[in-house]
Amino acid sequence: GKVEMPTNALVQESDDPNVLRSVEVSRTEELQTSRMLLPVTELEQEIVETVLLNPITVICGETGSGKTTQLPQFLFERAFGTKGSLNPGIVAITQPRRVAAVSMANRVGAELGVGSPKVAYKIRYDGNTSPETAIKFMTDGVLLRELANDFLLSKYSVVIVDEAHERSVNTDILIGVLSRVVTLRNNRWKENLQSTSPLRLVIMSATLRVSDFTENKTLFQQQPPVVNVAARQHPVTIHFAKKTSNDYLDEAMAKTIKIHKKLPPGGILVFLTGQAEIESVVKKLNQRFGAKDHLKSQKPKARESKANSNAANGDIEIEEVDLGDTIPPTPELDEDLKEVDSEDSGDESGFEEATIDENSSPMHVLPLYSLLPSDKQLQVFEPAPEGARLVVVATNVAETSLTIPGIRYVIDSGRAKERSYNPQNGMQSFNVSWISKASAAQRAGRAGRTGPGHTYRLYSSAVFENHFEHFAKPEILRMPIEGVVLQMKSMNLDVVNNFPFPTPPNAVGLSMAEKMLSNLGALSNTALTHSQGKSQITELGRSMSLFPVAPRFAKMLVTGFQHGCLPYIIAIVSALSVGDPFIHEEALKNSLNDDDSEDARQAIRKAYFKSQQKFASLGDHTSDLFKVLSAVGAYEYAGGGESFCRANFLRLKAMEEIHKLRAQISYLIQSTYPSINAHFVPKLSPPSETQLKVIRQLITAGFIEQVAVRKDLAEENENAGKKFQSCRGIAYKAIGIEEDVFIHPSSTLFSGEPPGYITFTEVVSTSQPYLKGLTVIDVSWLHKLGKSMCRFSKPVQAPANASLQKSESRREVIVEPHFGPGRGIKLPAV
Ligand code: ADP
Ligand code: MG
Repeated sequence: GKVEMPTNALVQESDDPNVLRSVEVSRTEELQTSRMLLPVTELEQEIVETVLLNPITVICGETGSGKTTQLPQFLFERAFGTKGSLNPGIVAITQPRRVAAVSMANRVGAELGVGSPKVAYKIRYDGNTSPETAIKFMTDGVLLRELANDFLLSKYSVVIVDEAHERSVNTDILIGVLSRVVTLRNNRWKENLQSTSPLRLVIMSATLRVSDFTENKTLFQQQPPVVNVAARQHPVTIHFAKKTSNDYLDEAMAKTIKIHKKLPPGGILVFLTGQAEIESVVKKLNQRFGAKDHLKSQKPKARESKANSNAANGDIEIEEVDLGDTIPPTPELDEDLKEVDSEDSGDESGFEEATIDENSSPMHVLPLYSLLPSDKQLQVFEPAPEGARLVVVATNVAETSLTIPGIRYVIDSGRAKERSYNPQNGMQSFNVSWISKASAAQRAGRAGRTGPGHTYRLYSSAVFENHFEHFAKPEILRMPIEGVVLQMKSMNLDVVNNFPFPTPPNAVGLSMAEKMLSNLGALSNTALTHSQGKSQITELGRSMSLFPVAPRFAKMLVTGFQHGCLPYIIAIVSALSVGDPFIHEEALKNSLNDDDSEDARQAIRKAYFKSQQKFASLGDHTSDLFKVLSAVGAYEYAGGGESFCRANFLRLKAMEEIHKLRAQISYLIQSTYPSINAHFVPKLSPPSETQLKVIRQLITAGFIEQVAVRKDLAEENENAGKKFQSCRGIAYKAIGIEEDVFIHPSSTLFSGEPPGYITFTEVVSTSQPYLKGLTVIDVSWLHKLGKSMCRFSKPVQAPANASLQKSESRREVIVEPHFGPGRGIKLPAV
């Protein structure tokens, strides 16, 4: 029929959308039949018209309804991506996960009967696109990088952002940018109809919280139309565990075996959190229940042994999750999901239906996670061998991204690996944590695709009620804000303070983050760009953006390759991230028993001071961080262990965490810069004199805004340059702090002559502000390491060769030229 033209229509009045159907596709009859069963195909006409007539369309539909596989085909058949047509540009579909990008490209290629390169994928380090490509699946990260080079995305005619409900940082940023790019492209097209074509944006998500996008006025001035794809969901019975065990791997195994032995045919889908876990469960199940021939094909591959060695080095699976493999928020509990509570029906409900002889029926057990090679990933879509039961052990990639056919039972561990960060030290890590209620509902729903199903939750309803959030927080709110800013700048998105975020982070935080990054030299810092909030990333910043650690630590790591200092810098960064591993004198007093004899107590005290002295001797009292470094070195040399820690007054848990983090950071550098040998070697050889000096310079580079000057030098008064015997009572001026500050008595610097210039890692306020984590620095280093922040004065009379002026606002660190005179450290001309 006749279509109503909206005012912002992207087709001319004369164009009937039906006229666009021009690409003939021949599908096999089998495929055609299964396509027809997908809920989305009923809405083909409506979807195509909406997309054609609107710059932005939102499509919501239950997982498995056919959004990802069919949308690109609908558009392809209307000649999107065909040269010489009205919309010759490529159809792009973004995915938060690599595994989905690859398998969906393969599937769509097969359904269209054309394969690659017509339908291709591009993920980091891999892809099969060519100039012939019409449909391109890619990760959202890849499209963001393309945007940095071609802001108008001129190669594309439509961008489909899939799995928008997951709210990964990349997806959020992508939707923000695209909301602007679409307007720019379409304005240009309207001005010059001949030489360009319009760009359309389609946002696809599971059914939930679409209002985050549609009702967001900064994002879209005009509310985009929403097409809802009706769900076709069979009832699912949910069984909670009576108790919640921490050993969810064993529980998952036991439950899988029980279902297999007792319940009628139907696939089992097990949700765990990562590759190492999955491989171990798959292996165990295969040993007991795998078909004999299947076992043969399970020989460990090189890839798997690599993964295992990583796991041994501290269970690192960073790559697995770095593209948004986090908790996706999902719909409210579906009405079709019946909950069976543990109290009345018990754990065993559903287990009486049938009994199957263990020996007669094998399991067909398959793993599924992001780093699995793509041919292995695709196995989950193939039917299990005759008589065998399909068991898929997966990460939450199976939650909404991939719909595995034939699943009747779901086992939900209730956990996922989630990116989290410690605001104290800015360190990011991937921790196993509880999923959201919405996510649990989505997982449960996987059991009801083909018929009625059962979901077994390995946690109690009490844990579910009390510990599960309703929805997962958007990832952007779970990340350190400097990290987000640095990431955006690395994509050439320079104006972060009025960027249309779907969920904006705190505005003050954004501009403080930008300033801090400028101070560290990660952003260019001219008066003009800074005042407009448009500072750009520097080469240094670009390298820093690759590290998931606080920017100052990233800077130390990036600059730490010199003079073989990297292993020491990694150890120091790890120790600073974990926190103080030393047991302190006060704590020691408390632990001495009253009934210990005076001799025994004396002996313990002696041992304590001896160990402290031994650690502090490295670097001749020039840095508190050397003391930690030396403790790490001694601990590793002794092979770690509790008795070493007890004998040397170290906290075992902290030492173990430092060890783990060193392994993790080394692995990260190794995978980012393969040419640099950053293999983790636990034992450190003692650093040379030169190295100790370089390390102090690298510490200065990272803590360039946390510098303090001895007060007499800062004020150029009559005492300037006087010799002092000890640090007791000697005042310092620290940038951004009004009051005088003092060296903490626990510092290894305390007993010596008070140094002129120091950096500090923290300020503690008791009776007066004390500086901790000190490093003696040379004033001349500041010129080189903090160039952008230094203002140079005329040479002044010796010996006061530099001075610190009163700061007018807190945290106004070292002078930035454009902030006007009179603040920060004045340095002698060089
Ligand atoms: P949605 O994006 O709405 O979640 P999809 O388009 O991913 O839905 O899936 C539609 C159907 O296509 C599902 O039933 C799924 O099992 C099937 N499917 C997807 N990929 C493959 C494949 N490689 N082989 C067989 N079936 C597949
Ligand atoms: Mg999908």
